[in-house]
Amino acid sequence: MRDTWPLLKNIPFPAIHRGRLDTLQVNVGYRCNQSCLHCHVGASPHRTEEMSGAVADTVLAFLERRRIFTLDITGGAPELNPHLRRLVVAARVMGVRVMDRCNLTILEVAGQEDLADFLASQQVEITASMPCYLQDNVDRQRGKGVFDGSIRALKRLNAVGYGRDGSGLVLNLVYNPQGPSLPPPQAALEADYRRVLGENYGIKFNQLYTLANMPIQRFGSMLISKGEFDRYLTMLRDAHRPENLDGVMCRNLISVDWRGFVYDCDFNQMLDLPLTRAANTRVHLSDLLDDEIEGNPVRVAGHCFGCTAGQGSSCGGAFIEAAE
Ligand code: SF4
Ligand code: SF4
Repeated sequence: MRDTWPLLKNIPFPAIHRGRLDTLQVNVGYRCNQSCLHCHVGASPHRTEEMSGAVADTVLAFLERRRIFTLDITGGAPELNPHLRRLVVAARVMGVRVMDRCNLTILEVAGQEDLADFLASQQVEITASMPCYLQDNVDRQRGKGVFDGSIRALKRLNAVGYGRDGSGLVLNLVYNPQGPSLPPPQAALEADYRRVLGENYGIKFNQLYTLANMPIQRFGSMLISKGEFDRYLTMLRDAHRPENLDGVMCRNLISVDWRGFVYDCDFNQMLDLPLTRAANTRVHLSDLLDDEIEGNPVRVAGHCFGCTAGQGSSCGGAFIEAAE
């Protein structure tokens, strides 16, 4: 895989300082049952990095001590981590809102037959990748058979109450473009998803989030190989909107890797740009149990234009409803 950091590190980006911390995003490992083309994590079935029980305990201690509102669990396929369910149950007992970034096909992996029931029983919010409502596009980006598996998984989640009015079980879908372009306006695309998935498959969901592809990891490497990296970066920079700086996720979230080290966001984690604190250049979550990081500078570079281009892009989708 080609490293995009040498091409990103000298690109200037406006300074950002942290606000109040309300979300702990935890990457519990890079193993995944899929190996998608756009994956910014570089996850695959062959990755072995996995959060240990001891680090999961530190995560729980941090949630309790710092009174964190949201635990956002990601991977790889987070459900493959053996400590995932313990983490979820303990966080929910504390009253923490828990989000699972689910690739949907994981519901069909052996040993995960009861996953939908477990997530529903804990009222875990599901944020599920669904890069298109058309079979060819999904299978091209995520692998053959992924579309059909995703549809079956969405039906299963609907059957246990997810996405249904009044159930309180939240199912959000995530769209990202197939290639080096910005996502279309979120509201219009959400209406298309609702119509096609509803009419063709009877599927219901709460919201669609549109995310831009980050010029890092597998997607960034693909851009370099095709000679499209500079053009994509120029497009992101030209589409930068200063007002989007207020909504970037690094203001209110920290990202924790499988070893417990802390980053300003998941993308910085993938670029191995640790959060820096005074003279400490690699901070562990256990170092922050009693340390308030509000006001700390965020490590920014050229990739950050992926968050501020166009309608903006964060783990909660677009910031503004663009009129274009
Ligand atoms: S994009 Fe998601 S489903 Fe695809 S390989 Fe990466 S972590 Fe797995
Ligand atoms: S890439 Fe990370 S550090 Fe940069 S703006 Fe986005 S969330 Fe913030």
